Amino acid sequence: MRDDKRDILEEILETMSDSENPEQSLDRIVGMIAGRFATEVCSVYAYNPYGNSLHLKATVGLTRESVGTIEMDVDEGLTGMVIETMAPVFIVNPSAHPRFKYYEGSGEEKYKTYLGVPLIYHRKVLGALVLQTLAEEGIRPDDIPVFQKIAGQLAATVAYTILWEERKRGEADGSLEPGEEGEPEEEDSFSHLRGEPVSDRVAAGHAHFTFETMDFNQVNRMKVRDTSAEVLRLNQAFEASEAQIRDVARSARRLSEQDRAIIDAHLMFLADPSLKKKIIAKIEEKVSAEYALKKVITAYVKMFKSMEDPYLSERAADIMDIGRRLLANLVGMGGDAGQAFTRDTIIVASDISPVDLLAIRQPHLKGIVLAKGGRTSHTVIIARSLEIPIVIGVEGILDHVRDGDYLIVDGVSGIVYANPSQEIRDEYARRREEGLKARKKLEGLRELPAQTVDGVTVGLGANIGLLSDMMLARQYGADLIGLYRTEFPFLLRTSFPSEEEQVALYRRVIEKSQGRSVTIRTFDVGGDKFLSYLDYPKEDNPFLGWRSIRLSLDLEDVFRVQIRSILRASVFGNTRILFPMITSVEEIRRVATLVAEEKENLDRAGIAYDREIKLGIMVEVPAAVPILDRLLKYVDYVNVGTNDLMQYLLAVDRNNKKVAVHFNALHPSVVATVDHIVKVCNHLGKPLCICGEAAAVKESIFLFVGMGARQISMVPSAIPEAKQFIRSVRATDAEKALAECLAMEDAAEIKAYLQGCLP
Ligand code: PEP
Ligand code: MG
Repeated sequence: MRDDKRDILEEILETMSDSENPEQSLDRIVGMIAGRFATEVCSVYAYNPYGNSLHLKATVGLTRESVGTIEMDVDEGLTGMVIETMAPVFIVNPSAHPRFKYYEGSGEEKYKTYLGVPLIYHRKVLGALVLQTLAEEGIRPDDIPVFQKIAGQLAATVAYTILWEERKRGEADGSLEPGEEGEPEEEDSFSHLRGEPVSDRVAAGHAHFTFETMDFNQVNRMKVRDTSAEVLRLNQAFEASEAQIRDVARSARRLSEQDRAIIDAHLMFLADPSLKKKIIAKIEEKVSAEYALKKVITAYVKMFKSMEDPYLSERAADIMDIGRRLLANLVGMGGDAGQAFTRDTIIVASDISPVDLLAIRQPHLKGIVLAKGGRTSHTVIIARSLEIPIVIGVEGILDHVRDGDYLIVDGVSGIVYANPSQEIRDEYARRREEGLKARKKLEGLRELPAQTVDGVTVGLGANIGLLSDMMLARQYGADLIGLYRTEFPFLLRTSFPSEEEQVALYRRVIEKSQGRSVTIRTFDVGGDKFLSYLDYPKEDNPFLGWRSIRLSLDLEDVFRVQIRSILRASVFGNTRILFPMITSVEEIRRVATLVAEEKENLDRAGIAYDREIKLGIMVEVPAAVPILDRLLKYVDYVNVGTNDLMQYLLAVDRNNKKVAVHFNALHPSVVATVDHIVKVCNHLGKPLCICGEAAAVKESIFLFVGMGARQISMVPSAIPEAKQFIRSVRATDAEKALAECLAMEDAAEIKAYLQGCLP
C-alpha cells in the first residue's frame, strides 16, 4: 500500500485543481481513496466546534442522501473520539467498542475495521477522514501513516470547503455583512473549547479566575437573547466594583493624597450615569455585557488618549483599570493569589506568570487553563513539573466560562469542557483511570536502561526546578539530573538566598540523587522570570535583553555567592556546574575566571569542594553554534537548550501563542543546527545532553539518537514513555532517517516521513 502514497497525493492535488468547486473535489477525492485502497466506506466529516458536532460532507459507501443530513455529537461515536483525541483511531470489530454508536439504517454494524484520521489544519481539528471495510484485514495498523499523509492534504480542501459554504450562505441570506470591526460572532451556547495541549493528564474542578490577568483582548462579540439578564449582571458588577474600591480606601489607612485622588476619581467615574447608560445601550444590540463593556471602555480610552492635554490623556489608564475591574466582576472573579482553595479548582486566566503559579500552588489546584501562553513557557514547564494538567491558547475561555463553573481540562487533547454532561464526566473518569493504569504499567520499566534494539544506551535525565521534583525523578526512573534550574528557588523568595541557604538546598538535591550526576545551572532570570526583589529596566524585548548570564555577570557579587555555594555543595555527590545562554568566548572566559577565583577563595579558607568539578555551557543561542569549537576550549561539556535555541534560531517567541505554529523542532534549520552541535561535541570528545521540551517528543528523540546524542533530559513524567520508545527503535534506523530528513525541505515533510517510520 505504501508505494501508492506518492501517486495518490499527486492525484488529490490534481483533483483539487480540476474540480469546479470544493464540494465536487471532496466527492471525487473520497471516491478515489475508496477505489485505490479497496475500502467499502470512505467518508469525510467536518467538525463544528460551536455545536460540537460532526457533519457528513462526502461519502462513498454511505447513502449519498446522508451528505448534509448526517449530524453526530462529538461526545458519542468513534469519529467523535478522533476529534477529541486529535489522533487516529483504529479499531477492528468496531461495533463491539463501547464508543460505537448505532445509527438506525446506516448498516455500519457490518463493517469489520474502522479507521478515523483527524483532519488538522493550522493545529485546529477541522474534521475526520473515516474508512471502513467489510474484511477484517481490510485496513492494517501499518496503513495508518499513509492515511495520515492523505488526511494532511485533505485538510486544506475541507478548510476551503467550509469557507466556501459560509460565503455561499452569507450571499444567500444577506448576512455576509462583517461583524462589528470584523470580529467573529459566536453563539452564546457551546459545550467545549479547544486550546493547545501541553500536558499528559486530565483534571477536573471548579473554575477560578485570576483578576490580574483580566484582559479585554480575550473578549469577543457574543450574541445574547436575554438582554435584561445582561443588564442585571452589569448592575451587579458596578455594585461589586464600587464596594471593592471603597474597601481598598478603608483598608489602606494612610493613603497618600495622590492615591486618595485616584480612588475618588475611580468612584466618580463608576457613579457617572452616562457610562452605564452607554454600556446598556450597547447591550440592547443583543450582545453580552462583557462585549458591551469592552466597546464602551475602549472607545473612552481611545478618546482620552487622543487628547492633547497630557493630564487628560493619562486618564485613559484609570479608565482601563475601572474597565478591567468591571470585567473581572462580570466574569465572577474570585479571590486572588494567597487564597486557600476549599474544593478542586482550575485556574482560568489570560496568562499567569511562573512566580504567580508557584505562589498559588496547593493540593486543591488541579488544573490550569490559559487564553495565552506558549508551549515552552516557564509557566508550562512548572505546571508540568508540578504534574498539574494545563491547556494553553484557549480562545474564548473568558467569554464562555464563569467563575465556579465545573470544568474538565483535557491536557492531552487540549479540550476544556464547562459544566459537561454526566456522560462526559464518566468518560473522563474512565480516561483518568486508564491513564493511571498506563502509568502503572510503565513503572515496570523503571530499573531498565533506555537501550535501543541494537544496543545503544541513552542516558535519560530529569529537568528539575524544585526539591519536590527529586521525588518524581526517582519515581520515573531518571538516570541523572540533566538540568537543575536554580532560578525557581530564587523566584520563590523575597530576597537573594544566602550562601548558607543555597549550600543547604543544593546539598539536599545532590544527596537525594544518590550518586547520579546532578547538573546545576546558575540562575537564569529575566525573559519571562522576574525576581520581585530586583529592579529591572523596562525592556521592549526581555528575551533579548537583561537575561541569564548577562544579568549574572552584571550582578557579580550575587553570582559569586552562587558559584561558591555550588562548589561547596559539590563535595556531597556527583555535581557539574552549567552556565546558561553563553553567546561569546569572552563571556565564558569571564565565567571561568570567576570560578577559578572562587576556588582559590575556598582553598584559602580551607573549605572543601570537588576539585574535578566539570563546567559546562548551555548552547541555546545560535551565535554559540559556529564558534562551538572555541567555546569548548574553556568547558568540559554541553547542554543543548532546544527551547531557547528554537526561539532565537527561528525568531519565534516561545511564549507567544500567535506564532506557536512556527515553533517547530522539526524545522530543517533546527534539525541541522542540533546535528551540527552533536557532531562537533562528539568529534571533540565533549559529553553532550539535550534538554528542552523537544527532548520528550518521539520524533525529535529519534533524530537525536540518529545524530549520536547519548544523553537527553526532560520533565520527569515524560521519562517512562521516552524510555519505552527508545527501547523499541534501532539506532541504525535513526541514523538513516536523520540522513533523509537532513535533505528535506520543510517540517511537514520531516514529520510525515518520521511518522511513517516510527513504531
Ligand atoms: C532551554 O532553553 O531549552 C532550556 C532547557 O532552558 P529553559 O527552558 O530554562 O530556558
Ligand atoms: Mg533556555
